[in-house]
Amino acid sequence: MEVKITIPFNKPYLTGKETHYIYQAVQSGKISGDGMFTKKCHTYFEQTFGFKKCLLTTSCTDALEMAAILLEIKEGDEVILPSYTFVSTANAFVLRGAKLVFADSYSYNPNMDASLLEALITPKTKAIVPVHYAGIACDMDTIMDVAAKHNLFVVEDAAQAIDSYYTGRDGVRRPLGSIGHLAAFSFHETKNIMSGEGGMLVINDERFVHRAEIIREKGTNRSAFFRGEIDKYGWVDMGSSFLPSDILAAFLFAQLESLPQIQAKRKEIWETYHNAFEKLETVGKIKRPMLPDFASNNAHMYYIICESLEERSALIDALKSKGVLSVFHYLSLHKSPFYENKHDGRALPYTDFYSDSLLRLPMYYELSEEEQGLVCQTILSFYNA
Ligand SMILES: *Cc1c(COP(=O)(O)O)cnc(C)c1O
Repeated sequence: MEVKITIPFNKPYLTGKETHYIYQAVQSGKISGDGMFTKKCHTYFEQTFGFKKCLLTTSCTDALEMAAILLEIKEGDEVILPSYTFVSTANAFVLRGAKLVFADSYSYNPNMDASLLEALITPKTKAIVPVHYAGIACDMDTIMDVAAKHNLFVVEDAAQAIDSYYTGRDGVRRPLGSIGHLAAFSFHETKNIMSGEGGMLVINDERFVHRAEIIREKGTNRSAFFRGEIDKYGWVDMGSSFLPSDILAAFLFAQLESLPQIQAKRKEIWETYHNAFEKLETVGKIKRPMLPDFASNNAHMYYIICESLEERSALIDALKSKGVLSVFHYLSLHKSPFYENKHDGRALPYTDFYSDSLLRLPMYYELSEEEQGLVCQTILSFYNA
């Protein structure tokens, strides 16, 4: 019997101010890109997180594509990235002709194992693209050290990592997205703060700022023109249309104003799950998310690790029978129909392990205590705990 889903996996949260700001944007008479609300968002991010330069884009996918253009990735270049990630991390570089070199995940979490990087570097390697899975930081000191030693660029895929931090060996706590040369964020409706679709490129290396503005504006120097720095604008480089309408920025700004409140609520939900499953982990039935000491928690996602694909499928069904939608996540990119025959053939056992056994639980602002209780109870009784 089909049971109706009453607890979805995700439910976009509205602060209530979105339509008010959209109305203001419309009234302002300028709803193309880089209007009033885009500037407000840029300022918010630069001041709150200390990002050197922020540029809103229409998606994180776009921001990653901009990064690949900025790094002048070309046919034959090699880019190191995890196999356990979203296709956009990979596509951005494939579109420029790069060869993907996948790094396996850690045994203890799905992030790329930084200790494997050195062995994957060749004279053709151009960039490393760490993905902060679930908003949990990668080992950025090791990644930045390897990159510096081999003269490589680092692009952080920080799609899930807003308001998450990394504490370096120097004891300094830095926001994710502020460490690599470039970083990409997503404001897709499945992320902590969102505008339906939406993204941002962060430029931490000054050398890329000028060209990033041009690439985002179809290869023209229109941004400098609007600032009055030049008296006419023209085609000066390659580029595309990567900037969002100010209507989208107006929506996003409403969310930004509520970021602390959204984060507090998500962390509460995350902690409830984490405490509820402590015993299951102790008795060895499941594994809970593992945060290294250097990583903070932005409560982007709550996942558990099951024993096997079969067990996970049975648990998904058990939850579904109670009206709860839980979902698995990435399928190994190195085994995908598109890339399998281009992959160098190395086995990536931990990537495959997470593909088979990781299960994401409902996580959204409006998830009530009772609903969370039902999710936890169903999982606990599934394991007879
Ligand atoms: C969501 C996500 C993206 C893509 O973001 P869009 O804004 O939808 O383009 C890329 N990488 C990761 C790791 C993501 O989670």
